[in-house]
Amino acid sequence: MSSIQAIRGTRDILPSESPLWAKIEEVARNALASYAYREIRTPVFEKTELFARGIGEATDAVGKEMYSFEDRGGRSIALRPEITAGLVRAFIQNKLFALGGVQRLWHLGPAFRYERPQAGRQRQFHQLDVEILGSRDARADVEIIAIATQILNTLGLKALSLDLNSVGSSADRQAYRDALVAYFTPYKDELDTDSQDRLTRNPLRILDSKDKRTQEIVVDAPSLLDYLSDDSQRHFDAVQRLLTNIGIDFSINPRLVRGLDYYTHTAFEIQSSDLGAQATVCGGGRYDGLVNQLGGPQTPAIGFGMGIERLIILLEQMGRYSTTPELDIYLISRGEKAELASAKLANTLRQSGYSVEVDLSGSAFGKQFKRAGRSGAVVGLILGDAEADAEKVQLKWLASGEQSELSQADLLSQAADLQAKIAQVRNQTSVA
Ligand code: ATP
Ligand code: MG
Repeated sequence: MSSIQAIRGTRDILPSESPLWAKIEEVARNALASYAYREIRTPVFEKTELFARGIGEATDAVGKEMYSFEDRGGRSIALRPEITAGLVRAFIQNKLFALGGVQRLWHLGPAFRYERPQAGRQRQFHQLDVEILGSRDARADVEIIAIATQILNTLGLKALSLDLNSVGSSADRQAYRDALVAYFTPYKDELDTDSQDRLTRNPLRILDSKDKRTQEIVVDAPSLLDYLSDDSQRHFDAVQRLLTNIGIDFSINPRLVRGLDYYTHTAFEIQSSDLGAQATVCGGGRYDGLVNQLGGPQTPAIGFGMGIERLIILLEQMGRYSTTPELDIYLISRGEKAELASAKLANTLRQSGYSVEVDLSGSAFGKQFKRAGRSGAVVGLILGDAEADAEKVQLKWLASGEQSELSQADLLSQAADLQAKIAQVRNQTSVA
């Protein structure tokens, strides 16, 4: 019988990769705590209607890529294509707005899109989503961008660039949309088929087209920046001033429109030149209308989604973080008494704060030593029946091979010293 394969576009995150995930999560948690953001966790599926109303039918994520289905009760349900809509639903349903002031929230979890799988593009992928709700101040926009920048910088990522644009208010965009339709209509037959379709459904998205001929036509299209109202322009200027003030470099990209309908004013993307075609690691923007559109009180907000798989690709290229497990002690024993004694010793050591892997094979000492060497442990502890009788243990520094005998009582009473020495040896041998 053939074995069952994972669903196309999904990946297993194996133990050899998971330390990189843990690193990203640790860096993100620390950065978010330092900006006073609080974690929220929302379900991976929601009513299809939430995404249709929130993100918009005319977007790729909802119109073309969404995993929606009927459940056994006949309800129309969808796996979330992104996190913001569900987070805003939770914000409204749980009346988080009633707490007053500004809510700073984040969530890291999977999202699902029926896309053509390729490097950096999957059908199940993970996003770190960070949102600030309740402020229209340009400082909120800049805070959001600064958090994304801080996370990427702390991870040590290089060759990143920040693109910034303003997509204006929905009134600004209406005027701009008309101008775009007027501009593109004479070229209609030359546009790629997707863009022809967008001409009526979502003309701004034509600016995003990857098609060569369409891109040539886009070059001379009217710029959104010429359609900003005074208020929108003031906000955009303030964002730029504040970014410069805290030393964050950016380039203005008037073609940056972002895929989702709900954006207003600030839109931004952070790209890496080390990622090939899927270069965007982080995309975000302001969505002043979304909370209201989903049935909540008028609440301006801004946030970003960061693609974790793309970060993982970059971290792997960088090779700076170790993916070998961090293990203090590998415990080797042979003989009935020794096995009993070592089980007890292992538990006591774990309670004293060591990580301990016990060899369960019962095979010859030589074989157990080989496995100890591959385990990533710093110290091997060896117990034969003789050691068990004498309540002793052999301690071997696995890198140098240096070995000594000591009593189990001494081993336990010197826990702090030994831990310090293990840490020291680990630092000497690790890459970073
Ligand atoms: P793209 O232009 O690459 O399709 P997008 O504009 O559709 O991106 P967003 O909706 O802004 O993406 O999602 C935020 C981030 O999530 C992206 O910048 C990217 O890093 C990541 N992302 C989006 N779709 C996928 C996917 N299918 N696989 C892996 N990561 C993804
Ligand atoms: Mg996309």
